[in-house]
Amino acid sequence: MKTLPKFLSGAVLGTALVLCLGCRKDEPGQQLPGYEEEVPQDQETENGESGKLKGTVIGTAKSMSASGQASTTANTREKAFDSDYNTYFTSYESNRTWVGLDLGSAHVITKVGFAPRIGKESLSVLGLFEGANTPSFSDALPLAIVRQKGKSGSMQYMDVNCSKGFRYVRYVGPDNSRCNIAELEFYGVEGEGDNSRFCQLTNLPTVVINTENASPITSKEVYVNSNVYIISDGGASLLSTSDTGVRGRGNASWGFPKKPYRIKFDSKQSPLGAPASAKSWTLISNYGDKTLMRNMLAFEVSRRVGMAYTPFCTPVDVILNGEYQGCYQFCDQVEVGTGRVPAKDGYLIEIDAYAYDEEVNFVSDRWMPVTVKYPKDDEITGDELAAISGFFNKMEAAVFSENFADAAVGYRKYLDVDSFLRNFIIGEFCGNTDTYWSVYMYKDGADGVLFTGPAWDYDLAFENDGRTYPINDLNGFIYATKGSVPVDAVRSMVTRIVRTDPAGKARLQELWNELKPRLEDLNACVDSNAALLEESQQLNFKRWPILSTRVHENPVARGSYPAEVDAVKSYITARLSKFDELVK
Ligand code: CA
Repeated sequence: MKTLPKFLSGAVLGTALVLCLGCRKDEPGQQLPGYEEEVPQDQETENGESGKLKGTVIGTAKSMSASGQASTTANTREKAFDSDYNTYFTSYESNRTWVGLDLGSAHVITKVGFAPRIGKESLSVLGLFEGANTPSFSDALPLAIVRQKGKSGSMQYMDVNCSKGFRYVRYVGPDNSRCNIAELEFYGVEGEGDNSRFCQLTNLPTVVINTENASPITSKEVYVNSNVYIISDGGASLLSTSDTGVRGRGNASWGFPKKPYRIKFDSKQSPLGAPASAKSWTLISNYGDKTLMRNMLAFEVSRRVGMAYTPFCTPVDVILNGEYQGCYQFCDQVEVGTGRVPAKDGYLIEIDAYAYDEEVNFVSDRWMPVTVKYPKDDEITGDELAAISGFFNKMEAAVFSENFADAAVGYRKYLDVDSFLRNFIIGEFCGNTDTYWSVYMYKDGADGVLFTGPAWDYDLAFENDGRTYPINDLNGFIYATKGSVPVDAVRSMVTRIVRTDPAGKARLQELWNELKPRLEDLNACVDSNAALLEESQQLNFKRWPILSTRVHENPVARGSYPAEVDAVKSYITARLSKFDELVK
């Protein structure tokens, strides 16, 4: 029987045994640390020294016997703390299982160690260490994540850089792993610690969602009560919230394994430098966008094109109930408010292919499906809805009228042409097949016209849709392709404004000439985003190993993250010259 050596030293073990996988605040693009040579001594806690901690073993009770039966005697959680590499804990359930220690009192954890079950080494990848002060781990925060598979028959140690003390510590097995852990060790110092330093998984902020009773989030309608934490500034800042609702969101994206979420804080928050102070935020999953940056990039285009409002959006890592979920984008909810859509005394609507699934919607005289986003579903009156649909129908009738291009009596009475054209340029420059499946419009105040915007939902843009691939080989604009609009009237409306109306067409050319220089160095932004996302994308594609698989509407599976990024850059370079032809 192989047992753990009583005393370990760096001199004996050499260089290769121990991984340094602790939490750091790397700058984007900085190289990851390699192996750590220093090995912790098997110290006991005396005079405040950091030592190997003992406690009561806690965790998933139901284990699995060698024959695959549920058991409480074979391969139990205690086997992860018996100093024997040949014994292990394996849970009966395949997901969301864990094992750890009740330390009896709070300890600041300085180091964790693990050894995978022999023969199941790869199942340790993305295993997550957490600390908490409630036995349910509803207040759990991360301590360290396993980035590379462990080596069997030896401990792998990770430094922990978290100053808060925890009474309960655990290892949560990654998805579908049944834990399968041979040994665990926790090192630390007794004490409550302080709130000066938390573990951020990568250079990106970490969003931690702990749902009540660790319930899964399975609905787009019902919020699950949760504690949500946001660790940022390299681990120096923690936003701690309770009674936060988390539910599913999205249309097509909700159907993929990596789920998008909506977060509703109990009180207004302004996380991660967002301009808005609001309760509702979104976590965009980008499952089919293997660059993980298409929405960020489209929003950058939106800012450069001069839209009145561009949604706030910043990349984060997400942990849900102890399980790493991948790289997400933390974004505004598209809603009216300060720092958001500027339509406080007006309304916000969306020409929306999915309008029939929404609570407050109408269909225009020409069968355009429209969702009313503001006033809110539970606040809008019948009169307000009638006024909104009435104005929309007047706008629509004017677009399709004989004198539609007339400056005085045509559609300009109802629609702001510049924001419509700027939104058109964003959609067409980015090559987004969804731009006219979802067109946001808003009206600020009772008088005035409808403005178009914000840009939203660009995961299929930048050459990520097999139905329109390759975009720059198309003879015309992307909105004119089959399937790019919910009803033909939407396509006809765009054509009348950007092609048929001589003033509209001239203004589009003029705007493009003015805006093109602002877009010519967009690939520098692609490069800086790729550097920012580098560490997180590595974890993301361990969680979702799809780089060689076509998912959603992917035209091609390019096999690597850099190849996916390069494809976007090539597209942008070609699009800049193709657009010159298209606007003629
Ligand atoms: Ca063991």
